[in-house]
This record gives sequence, structure tokens and C-alpha cells, in this order.
Amino acid sequence: MIKNVAIIGLGLLGGSVGLAAAKHLPDITTTGYDAAPDVRAKAAELALVGTVCETLAETVRDADLVVLCVPVGAMRNAAGGLKGLLKQGAIVSDVGSSKQSVLDDLRAELPGQIIIPAHPVAGTEQSGPDAGFATLFTGRWCILTPPAGADEDAVTALTAFWQGLGAKTEIMEAAHHDLVLAVTSHIPHLIAYTIVGTASDLEDVTRSEVIKYSAGGFRDFTRIAASDPVMWRDVFLQNKGAVLEMLGRFTEDLTAMQRAIRSGDGETLEELFERTRKIRRSIIEQGQDDAAPDFGRDH
Ligand code: NAP
Repeated sequence: MIKNVAIIGLGLLGGSVGLAAAKHLPDITTTGYDAAPDVRAKAAELALVGTVCETLAETVRDADLVVLCVPVGAMRNAAGGLKGLLKQGAIVSDVGSSKQSVLDDLRAELPGQIIIPAHPVAGTEQSGPDAGFATLFTGRWCILTPPAGADEDAVTALTAFWQGLGAKTEIMEAAHHDLVLAVTSHIPHLIAYTIVGTASDLEDVTRSEVIKYSAGGFRDFTRIAASDPVMWRDVFLQNKGAVLEMLGRFTEDLTAMQRAIRSGDGETLEELFERTRKIRRSIIEQGQDDAAPDFGRDH
């Protein structure tokens, strides 16, 4: 059973895990640590965890579960810091957006430890200790990617923990997770970053015009493109293979659209737009988004 949880990294995800545990799992004790002293001070002020500690050793001393909530490029370093500090049988997990690289990094740094990576598919474009909130995981999926032969009791305990925080859980292989998330999350972020970058570099359309008329669709991309630069830099570098594979497919499909527009092939365009509209309807039917028009904005 998981009684003591240590959270390393007290930004949006770490803070939300702490707040959700306090709200939904009051019998669990939480400790937390962040590399940045100002983040530790803010986390203590906001009571993101039960105790904000000044050292890693103190943070993980009694932990049955350690959750690494740092950017995926910092996972190896964070795991390395735990060497020799963990209780016998403690589970080491994380919330990183890519999974194969995290699994490899944690195994390399903590051989012999129970390692069960996880990814709550929940977030916002905000980051830092002020951004966390207790309901972030409510009704959202958390994908666990235990390696082959992982301790079954530990998988069951981690599943129960995430369900306790309000999430729905799924088990997946790390490599498959990375392909799925490349197309549902990583490529959409790359497209948003690119289109917003392109618009800000235009010479014959001014930046003030782009901002003024953004309600035509552009502003929906800007929400995603405002996501944390360090976190997303790391996601693309750590999930390189899957992202490049999906980007290849996307580029081919984009070229087909370019051809359809150039040749006046309205049938191809309409057929795609009919299919994509159905995807939106399925997302709403499955409770993954609000049915209100224009994301429920006040008009
Ligand atoms: P965040 O708000 O920037 O928080 C990360 C915190 O970790 C920062 O305070 C950072 O401090 C700290 N940190 C970095 N290296 C550390 C280390 N070695 N030891 C201790 N603390 C360290 O980021 P986040 O949005 O919570 O993202 C955390 C993880 O969640 C990432 O792996 C991300 O892929 C994953 N995730 C994010 C979302 C999302 O929507 N944001 C959704 C699902 C999963 P400094 O800033 O001083 O480096």
C-alpha cells in the first residue's frame, strides 16, 4: 500500500499531484522537493504538499512512491540524485510526456529499483508552482507503462493511486505510448508552435493584424503555442523517433491537401473535412471536451 508519496519537481504537475492527493487521498502523506529554492518557498506558501523539504534525502526517506515531475530531459539527473536514498521496495514513477526515454533513464540510474513510468494526459499551457490545481486529473487518462516483468503489486498500487486522484488508467508499452502521443499531443504542439512562429515572421501582413483578427482560428493555436518552452524542447528531443515518424506521415498528408487545393479537387477536401468533424464529435461524446460552440467562449 502507498502511504507516503514524495514528489520531485513542484511545478504544474507536481503541485497538482500534491493538491489532488490532499483532496482525494487524505490518508496519504506527501513530501516535496524542487531544485529551485524560490519554487520550494512558493510550494510551501501554497501548501502544494504536506511538507516541502530542503534535501532530496529528507524528501524520499519514508516514501513508498516517488513521482518525478520534472521535464523529461531532467529525468536522468533527478533519478541519479535518488541513488542510495530510497526505502527498500519503494516505487519510482514519473509524469513525463514521453515514456521510452524515461524508462531507459530511470533503469540506467536506479538498477534493481521498482520502476513504473506513467503519464497523466492532463495539463494546461501554464507552468510553475502557481499553476497546479487539485482537479487537473479528474476524468482524464493516466497511461502507465510498466516494463515487461514489472512487479504486479506495484502496478496495482500505482493504478489505485492514480484512480484515487480522479484519473482513468490504461496500461501501454512505452514505445507504443510514444507513437500515440506523438500524433495526439506532440505533433499538434509542433504545428501550433510553427504556425504562430510563421505568422509572427510575415512581412506583408503585420503582427498587429494577426493579433487583431486572431479569432478566425489563429488564437486557438496560440494557447498551445504558449506552453512551457523547456518542457516542450525536451519532449521533442526525447521522443525524436516517434515524432519524426508521425511528422513524415503528416507532411505527406499536407502535400496531398496542397495538391487538392492547387488542382481544384473539392471532393478530396470535403471528404477529409467530413471525417475530421466526426473525430471532434467522438471526442465530445467520450467526455474529453465540452460540446459548447467555440469552446464555450462568451460571445
Ligand atoms: P514545470 O511547471 O516547469 O515544473 C517542473 C519543475 O521541476 C520546475 O520547478 C523545475 O525547476 C523542477 N526541476 C527541474 N529539474 C529538477 C530536478 N533535477 N530536481 C528537482 N526539480 C527539478 O513543468 P510541468 O508542466 O509540471 O511538467 C513536469 C513534467 O510533466 C514534464 O516531464 C512534462 O513532460 C510532464 N507533463 C506536463 C504536462 C503539461 O501540460 N504541462 C502534462 C502532462 C505531463 P526549474 O524550473 O528551476 O528547472
